[in-house]
Amino acid sequence: MLFFKAVLKHKTVIAIAAVSVLIIVYAIKIGVAAFERSSKETLSIILYHSVNEDEDQHGEYSVSPKELEEDLKYLKENGYTCITSKELIDYVYSSADFPQKAVMLTFDDGCLDNMTYVYPLLEKYDMKAVFSIVGEFCDREESKKNRDDSSYLNWAEVKKLYQSGKVDIACHSNSLHTLNNRMGAMINADESYTDYRSVFLSDTNNFLRSAKDKAQIVPSIYTYPYGLICEESKNLIKTCGFKISLGCEERVNRLSREESSLWCLGRFNRQSGVSTEDFMKKVF
Ligand SMILES: [Zn+2]
Repeated sequence: MLFFKAVLKHKTVIAIAAVSVLIIVYAIKIGVAAFERSSKETLSIILYHSVNEDEDQHGEYSVSPKELEEDLKYLKENGYTCITSKELIDYVYSSADFPQKAVMLTFDDGCLDNMTYVYPLLEKYDMKAVFSIVGEFCDREESKKNRDDSSYLNWAEVKKLYQSGKVDIACHSNSLHTLNNRMGAMINADESYTDYRSVFLSDTNNFLRSAKDKAQIVPSIYTYPYGLICEESKNLIKTCGFKISLGCEERVNRLSREESSLWCLGRFNRQSGVSTEDFMKKVF
């Protein structure tokens, strides 16, 4: 009898131990999942270029002010918060909380119409955006007498937009926004790393100098011309002091507290002729 009692007691101990182990494993799994959720945020970035009333121009890289306004209305009504480089840097470098339902609006090339049509809409809907500026496009505007719809922002306008607090400024290269001598800011096939390094650093530093001297801006974002990225550029961008880089691959970004999660972020190109609802289904 004593023997059976001992066996029963032994089995009970084993059962309790097994259940305890299962509870602990389950608790660890829940803990890990919660940690993963809290440490991996998602960010969708929308890419616009020109915004104007000329229907003949509307297409892949140009939308109407009405289309942009519909997008902003949608984001506002659905509780999205527009973020710029500040929130991304605070999240990764200062362990700040990441805004819920974050979205980043980006406008490439620094078209003059961004001031005419985009800025007033940002004010109207109390939203922010990132304008990616090409240094030499701004320089050319300084000497232009007649400016029209195809013009770009000059440095004084860039400065004014930045000082409004609604617009963050990104470097879109100084003179590499072309496909003539190389593919954007990429290394050429027959080019040594040393030669490429010197071209890239000189171009980027030219931009940084102009941005600082003419607009008192030190940008944190490098936006690759045409979204063309090469491995060799990645460290050089870091060397120049940038903390974020933007490409054009269409995907939702997964952010962690790692510095590396801010490199080569994907963006969704907003073209004309697609309804806001259909476009946003793809973005979020
Ligand atoms: Zn561009």
